[in-house]
Amino acid sequence: MQGRIREEDMAALRDRADIVDVISGYLQLRKAGRTFKGLCCFHQEKSPSMMVDPAKGLYHCFGCGAGGDVFTFVREVEGLSFNEAAQRLADRFGVQLRFTGGSDQSGDGSRRRLIEAHSAAAAFFKELFQHSPQAAAARKYLEGRGFNQDDAQAWGLGYSPPERDTLYRHLLGRKFKPKEIVDAGLATAGASGEHRDTFRNRLMFPVADLSGQVVGFGARALGDEQPKYLNSSKTPIYDKARILFGLDRSKAAIVKVGHSIVTEGYTDVIALHKVGMTNAVATCGTALGEDHFSLIKRFCDRAILAFDADAAGAVASERGFGMHAKMGLEVLIAPIPAGKDPADVALIEGADATKLIFDAARPLMLFVLEAEIARHQLDTAESKAKAVRAAAAKLAWEPNRVARGEHAFWVARRIGVAPEQVMLEISEASEASSAGRGRPAELRLPGHVKVEREALGLLLDRPEELMSDLGGIAAFLTEEHFDQPEHRVVFKALKDAAQAGAPVMDFLPDPASRRLAAELALAPVLTKDEAELFARLEEFRLARQTGALRAKLDRLDPSTETAAHDAAFEELMRLEDTRRGFER
Ligand SMILES: [Zn+2]
Repeated sequence: MQGRIREEDMAALRDRADIVDVISGYLQLRKAGRTFKGLCCFHQEKSPSMMVDPAKGLYHCFGCGAGGDVFTFVREVEGLSFNEAAQRLADRFGVQLRFTGGSDQSGDGSRRRLIEAHSAAAAFFKELFQHSPQAAAARKYLEGRGFNQDDAQAWGLGYSPPERDTLYRHLLGRKFKPKEIVDAGLATAGASGEHRDTFRNRLMFPVADLSGQVVGFGARALGDEQPKYLNSSKTPIYDKARILFGLDRSKAAIVKVGHSIVTEGYTDVIALHKVGMTNAVATCGTALGEDHFSLIKRFCDRAILAFDADAAGAVASERGFGMHAKMGLEVLIAPIPAGKDPADVALIEGADATKLIFDAARPLMLFVLEAEIARHQLDTAESKAKAVRAAAAKLAWEPNRVARGEHAFWVARRIGVAPEQVMLEISEASEASSAGRGRPAELRLPGHVKVEREALGLLLDRPEELMSDLGGIAAFLTEEHFDQPEHRVVFKALKDAAQAGAPVMDFLPDPASRRLAAELALAPVLTKDEAELFARLEEFRLARQTGALRAKLDRLDPSTETAAHDAAFEELMRLEDTRRGFER
């Protein structure tokens, strides 16, 4: 359980942590009227779409949708928890934070202890790697791969000794409690109470979070132990699905060059950095997933995967494709020669050859299409038609029309048919799939969604006035007035915040809702007639309620369920009356 920061300390921090000051540390802000504008640090862009409103204490990017308050900003840009972000701001602006519900130790303290345990373990492993005779095999392995002492030093590589509990005893000596060491995932407790180190006789790769603190390890076996690579299991500070090895060192380079290289190995990252490709990161013994994509998307719009064919194939599923396409992340595949890994290519063939391979990366879609087409013989009209149909089905996943057209030409050339034939198959394939699933990119919002957004924008702008129980124009609103689940979340936070007399940002449960709230709060108010806007919300609510009631009536049998039917019918009549009142 995380401790909560005392409200009075939060209030002091909120007063002092100037959002313009904080964001200026990451990007250049220019004054534009009563707001500030700059190039967004969460996506790559040439003209500024990041807007900061010091009066409201909010920011919003019109390009990528990032947004929130000063705490959201620090959390997202540094990858921190709320308490960590608050602590960082408190340190900077000289505010002392105290926690409710126990002492400092109980709340964020336990998390801090796990990080401290990792830091101590990393230092211990590193010392052994550099000086212990036991680590000779580890040093030899690394040399054999083409790395030297400087590389090991730079990446903090270490060695975990083979005995049962060397690290455990070392950490006890450094005043860590057995529970802290076990919670950190660095040792396990046996049935008879003895402890056993998690990592033994392995080459240790420390894995850091975005702020550079070691939170886990990847460990390569030096003997025949299985598995060959052992990774930290999930702990309060480490989740392999949400972390990329090397990202803490690569993020600046990634933003600068506009893309990230994603590999599967710790040594790949170290080798690529060694030859100057300092935008390389790696997954930590797990498949590349949605959280990795959104992590990458914070720094750039393009990921080049240096995966072997099997792993790349897994990313190239329809689900995978939908995932990153939706985020606006372009995924390319680098043609790493079969049987080699990126580390071999970098260390044996050198910087220039490696750069050529990554320059030759092709869109993931082409990789998918090639795999599909390769299954067909292409020697008869029949087999060509089958290949076109199969390729078109995959191409229909591509939401970008320009890319789809270009890929269609490529498919036509590759199979040896006219491009029109491919286009025709695609339109049929996409009609078939959109009939089943609904078109994903619906740009025109239905009327009620616009009205809900406008209304929330107004409420976020002047919550106290509009939602006041004493005659606020929107005091009658309930969560039911909002049909979109994400709008309901924001409305509920508005109500809770109004009740607590605190900022709404404190009541929003996740980044998506904070983002949405910041976007709506900073959007210009278009409505001329506020009363009319809230009346339309009520109208939409009544229409939904009526629809639900009609559906219920349809299901009820008037002859056997007479009472329920009559009640529903009367209710419907009442509703219809109210609705007519609105239409007048
Ligand atoms: Zn942005």
